[in-house]
Amino acid sequence: MVVYTGSMSDAASKTFYLETFGCQMNAHDSEKVVGTLLAQGYRQVPTVEEAGLVLYNTCSIRDKAEQKVFNRLADYKKYRAQGKKFGVLGCVAQQEGERIFERAPYVSLVCGSASYRNLPQMLVQLETGSSRVTGLDDRMTDECFETEFAARTNPHRGYITIIEGCDKFCAYCVVPFTRGKERSRTSASVLEEARQLADLGYTEIQLLGQNVNSYRDPSGLKSFAELLVAVASVVGIRRVRFTTSHPRDFGRDIVEAIDAVPALCNHVHLPVQSGSTRVLDAMSRLYTRDEYLERISWIQAARRDISLTSDLIVGFPGETEREFEETLSLMDLVGYDSVFTFKYSPRPNTPALRLEDAIPEAEKARRLAVLNDRQKQIGTRRNQRHVGQIVEAMVEGKNAARGQWVGRTSQIKVLNFTVPAGVELAAGSYVDVRVTGCFPNSLVGELAV
Ligand code: SF4
Repeated sequence: MVVYTGSMSDAASKTFYLETFGCQMNAHDSEKVVGTLLAQGYRQVPTVEEAGLVLYNTCSIRDKAEQKVFNRLADYKKYRAQGKKFGVLGCVAQQEGERIFERAPYVSLVCGSASYRNLPQMLVQLETGSSRVTGLDDRMTDECFETEFAARTNPHRGYITIIEGCDKFCAYCVVPFTRGKERSRTSASVLEEARQLADLGYTEIQLLGQNVNSYRDPSGLKSFAELLVAVASVVGIRRVRFTTSHPRDFGRDIVEAIDAVPALCNHVHLPVQSGSTRVLDAMSRLYTRDEYLERISWIQAARRDISLTSDLIVGFPGETEREFEETLSLMDLVGYDSVFTFKYSPRPNTPALRLEDAIPEAEKARRLAVLNDRQKQIGTRRNQRHVGQIVEAMVEGKNAARGQWVGRTSQIKVLNFTVPAGVELAAGSYVDVRVTGCFPNSLVGELAV
């Protein structure tokens, strides 16, 4: 029985509300957290007002993330008189630890993602009245948070975490400190989950990991590329994606697998962060500009037309104008289909804090604008090659206001398209679409009939 103070009935109090911020890993962690709570007899509710337990799954990638978390917790404060309990999960929980209890004394659970496997015991502690329950053993654990209870929110695209944590320690990044060391699941366990998803009707699987291609099968049976092929061979699975890849561990065998197996989507997300070898070294990225470009040449030599996306940071401490221009020239050389761009901002506990962050905000903003402008041109040019092609799209939904359907191509491009009057499509179905035009970040077309 959940022991809450206040007058709520047990049935009403064994309810939870979960709010999630951050990346796909975090979103999928939340699916696993929800599944774990449901298995413990909790019921998920859509509002804070209805919940006995309010959970907040946090992300620390963005600037001032901790402050935003404490501001959000302050919003929750007004509910404490109603006997609700509050828990903070995820990267900010791991990073701030027990300081959260000091600054927000009405919080009674603080748990980093490397400790989610212990959630059932922590819930029991909460239920028996403990007011300060923590799960913060980060880099010590060898265990993964298996997903047998995951409560998935997307009925067509299923996420499977194959490797957790990170051992790379890029100078600007908090993840190695918040998500623990790299630890992979066995290929047998991943394949079992893929088969379960196929049995449930899923046709697309996305394999997740902070460095997904650093996967090392603990049973020694499969390399990452072999695992990709095996998952793509599960009966009923039509598309397999994987994210995020680290350039150092990106091998030719991954490209060969994509070339050989149509169910592996022809898209690679390969974050470069900077086009300057000196800056890459200062970032501790573990590869040079030339080594990165070598991997790109493997991908561009593939028989399939593999789309390329990346992450880029401008204004890392000490980045000169010339080094910034090296990033622009690398973008031109690669010709990315799209990129995620960021201004550098110092993060707590990271090695880059020791470097002087002397580039003014206005200059960082200028570099970001230049980079985004350049990508607009490159993205438009890259998308123009599809105009006139017939491509397969997985239907994601309908934009009623615009009278268009929205789909996603194997190359992960958004495709807005029209259908003849009276035709209705099912979300999750696959259709052929003739591409008739493009924008920097999307394609437009019409159903090919
Ligand atoms: S590889 Fe680098 S950027 Fe990616 S999670 Fe690890 S430390 Fe962070």
